[in-house]
Amino acid sequence: MNNNNTNNLIIIGSGPAGYTAAIYAARANLSPLVFTGLEPGGQLTTTTVIENFPGFPDGIQGSQLMMNMQKQAQKFGAEIKMESITKVDFTSEIKKVWVNETEYKTKAIIIATGARYRTLELEKEKKFWGKGIHTCATCDGFFYKDKTVAIIGGGDSAMEESNFLTKFADKVYLIHRKDTFRASDIMQERTKNNKKIEIIYNTDVVEYLGSDKLTGVKTKNNKTGEEKDLEIDGLFFAIGHIPNTEIFKNQIDIHETGYINARDNVYTSVEGIFVAGDVVDFTYRQAISSAGIGCMAAIAAERWLDKN
Ligand code: FAD
Ligand code: NAP
Repeated sequence: MNNNNTNNLIIIGSGPAGYTAAIYAARANLSPLVFTGLEPGGQLTTTTVIENFPGFPDGIQGSQLMMNMQKQAQKFGAEIKMESITKVDFTSEIKKVWVNETEYKTKAIIIATGARYRTLELEKEKKFWGKGIHTCATCDGFFYKDKTVAIIGGGDSAMEESNFLTKFADKVYLIHRKDTFRASDIMQERTKNNKKIEIIYNTDVVEYLGSDKLTGVKTKNNKTGEEKDLEIDGLFFAIGHIPNTEIFKNQIDIHETGYINARDNVYTSVEGIFVAGDVVDFTYRQAISSAGIGCMAAIAAERWLDKN
């Protein structure tokens, strides 16, 4: 099916980046069309209270914050479609996107499809989600005051987040599958010098233990084959991220890590295609930084549309 209308601006994604872009674009009279994807509201809808988003001194539930953003965007005229974009074509001046067989045309696009944490995907992972298994140490580390936690990974995130977790937890196990880290020397040094961190090398987590919530993990030394049960209250992943960029391959410039390459934060390699949030930002990956880049992308898109 073909929609004959050509939209001014299509926003792909409904996390903090997408909805902030929608608020700004709607207030600029661009009548943006927002496609929410399979996770309306984005990653924050998968967590509980958000304590570091400015303006909410008592915190706010992630899903409530995202509902508020959606309402705010709709109030100014953004149209929200609870659908996922399945294909794009950025090769001509008028860009095209599809939801299955239905085609939408637009002059400009903001990509705000986010990124998902890589996890081990072992049995019981979904059951223990938020009940001992977490992805974001910056967000949920606070809940482990005086407890014992583990974090998996050997990159800078694992170093940074294991150190961060020691602000709350009594003990942090850092579990890594090799005996060398890819993290920078300075981050490694800081981690190795932190008395609260115990590093477990050459080890894989092979099972989550517990019935209603996580109470530990089964580990396996991949050199000796020795298995051990490790009692912990919480487990965090720092084994990389998977940006949601599969549908944009061969259409715009994408880094080998999967993140979209951008100039000045928001400009992609294609004129009229802008980007915002976790899909481009591999450094900060926070709701407020995503919202900030969403604002920048909308202003950049508005100025570009004015000129063109
Ligand atoms: P996302 O929130 O990832 O949203 C991406 C959107 O794109 C989704 O709506 C998705 O459905 C949509 N999408 C994907 N593909 C398509 C497609 N093909 N078509 C249409 N739409 C598509 N940050 C904080 O600042 N504070 C916290 O306390 C905090 N807690 C967190 C807790 C958890 C458990 C997690 C996982 C993350 C947490 N974060 C927190 C990080 C924060 O959620 C992210 O940084 C932020 O959500 C990124 O926003 P975004 O808009 O870039 O992307
Ligand atoms: P990363 O560098 O890709 O490291 C991921 C780590 O997870 C690696 O040690 C990898 O192990 C491990 N891993 C991957 N898949 C795994 C699996 N299935 N099971 C067990 N372990 C697995 O990711 P990152 O640490 O998130 O860093 C991403 C980028 O952000 C990097 O460029 C980093 O420098 C940057 N960053 C910088 C800072 C900082 O400067 N302060 C902080 C955070 C991130 P192997 O080593 O065996 O492959």
